[in-house]
Amino acid sequence: MTTNAAHFDYIVVGAGSAGCVLANRLTASGRHRVLLLEAGGRDSNIWIHIPLGYGKLFDNAKVNWLYKTEPEPELNNRRVIQPRGKVLGGSSSINGLLYIRGQHEDYDHWRQLGNAGWAFADVLPYFRRAEDQARGADDLHGVDGPLAVSDVSEPHPLCDAFIEAAELSGYPRNDDFNGPRQEGAGYFQLTTKNGRRWSTAVGYLRPARNRPNLTIVADALATRVLFSGRRAIGVEYRKGGTKGETTHTVYADGEVVLSGGAFNSPQLLQLSGLGSEKLLRDLGINVIADMPGVGADLQDHLQIRMVYRCTEPITMNDVINNWRHRYAEGLRYLLSRKGLLTIGAGYAAAFIRTRPELATPDVQTHFLIFSADSAGAPLHPFPGFMASVCQLRPDSRGFVRIKSSDPTVPPAIQPRYLTAQTDRDTIVAGLKALRRIMNQRVMRQYIAKEIAPGEACVSDADFLAFTRDTATTVYHPTSTCRMGSDPNAVVDQRLRVRGFERLRVVDASIMPTVASGNTNAAAVMIGEKGADMILADAASAPVAMSA
Ligand SMILES: Cc1cc2nc3c(=O)[nH]c(=O)nc-3n(C[C@H](O)[C@H](O)[C@H](O)COP(=O)(O)OP(=O)(O)OC[C@H]3O[C@@H](n4cnc5c(N)ncnc54)[C@H](O)[C@@H]3O)c2cc1C
Repeated sequence: MTTNAAHFDYIVVGAGSAGCVLANRLTASGRHRVLLLEAGGRDSNIWIHIPLGYGKLFDNAKVNWLYKTEPEPELNNRRVIQPRGKVLGGSSSINGLLYIRGQHEDYDHWRQLGNAGWAFADVLPYFRRAEDQARGADDLHGVDGPLAVSDVSEPHPLCDAFIEAAELSGYPRNDDFNGPRQEGAGYFQLTTKNGRRWSTAVGYLRPARNRPNLTIVADALATRVLFSGRRAIGVEYRKGGTKGETTHTVYADGEVVLSGGAFNSPQLLQLSGLGSEKLLRDLGINVIADMPGVGADLQDHLQIRMVYRCTEPITMNDVINNWRHRYAEGLRYLLSRKGLLTIGAGYAAAFIRTRPELATPDVQTHFLIFSADSAGAPLHPFPGFMASVCQLRPDSRGFVRIKSSDPTVPPAIQPRYLTAQTDRDTIVAGLKALRRIMNQRVMRQYIAKEIAPGEACVSDADFLAFTRDTATTVYHPTSTCRMGSDPNAVVDQRLRVRGFERLRVVDASIMPTVASGNTNAAAVMIGEKGADMILADAASAPVAMSA
């Protein structure tokens, strides 16, 4: 069934980290009518809002697209999970809550690649504008922004030991990874407030949702962007309901903005006829523009976890596996909003350089006070903790390609992890550096046994084999609609799809290179900056909008 068409000024596809920012900022003046389409539902699941609930969302199809990669040749042909939020707030509703912006040099590098307006000095005002930093404002941090950022609720002896061990290994203590320099070891900050998750649905969408000029349609899968020549004019979407699925057509008098994330934005462009001509023709899709860059250049952070049995019952395993402790911790959370329920996907971190000649860290370690066989799996029935290595600036490049013209069929996702020699070398060097940290006496006192990779793992070849056997993602896919001015770039420096009018991509897919850290903060910054660009362009070249 097809319903009547409706007109808006802006149609934003995807209510994720960037999409919610756009919905808020584009409606703030009251002058523009905005439609926000989201394939997932409302963020009513309680585990979204309790930080530790993150572990319960890995296999929940109601809030997660549950993607998997194709078999990865350098990982013994294993398929790697690729969770993505499918709910208001997108991945910011299911992510690990760690607040890391990346390195100043990342953004200076984006600028150096030819993207004017994206140097660190240019993007800093947007990081600050977004932020509500619990520690207060300074030159690098903002307060009163919609994105709450706070410290972990309390220190933990294992984290203190890890940080000291890193210092003894030559890495400085760092109490603010988003400060003047990223290098060193310290506690993470989280996108939380009073022990609750601060997704962009909470921070940006809630304050805006009752504005008369914002229409939010959940459970709405955008299936195609509509064009008149090279001008985007609308979107077709499907909405499920008790009476079956209906197809709707909506028109944008201003712009269509894609914020579906690093897998779905290129998928939607390809479904709409923008992509590799051969790929589209083979699938029977009418080619509007041969753009092989759409879906190319996929980058992701690969993560390798070292697992330890702890000498003392002070880990999260010991709490979660004991019903008395579990209930006590639940009560503590209810009464004080402190404790284990407030922690994210990492507790402490170390950003390290694996070679002294490097200018900035090339490896991030996440330190966790629990252990499990995989993400979301039950915790081990003994005291345990883990520390992981992730290479911050991988050279390997992969792709996202639709497999069918049916928009409900997941695209092929192939990061091609470890296909670059530098990536293999850096990960091995990172694992060896992490082992050295763990061998400091202050840490050794807590280690009953290194469970993985284990003592038999000593040579570079052993560490690489361990990586191939166990590595997984740390959930940071980017760059599949890469910003740039070379022939394969998909969007220009104002995030406009090159060669098209009134069509932008504003999400993590536009990153020229993946930021050196966790990617939510950068996606929010991109949303903030994208909103300013859209509004500035509307003001300077007004189209026939409701304003
Ligand atoms: C499990 C996990 C843990 C993570 N941990 C961290 C962390 O601790 N710290 C950190 O900084 N980053 C983390 N990340 C990464 C970070 O959350 C993402 O990089 C960021 O949220 C991406 O933002 P985005 O706006 O590009 O896309 P998303 O936030 O993924 O938003 C895309 C939205 O578009 C919707 N959508 C897609 N296609 C369509 C369509 N066709 N029609 C309608 N709607 C559509 C999706 O349902 C989704 O809501 C994590 C991610 C995951 C999945």
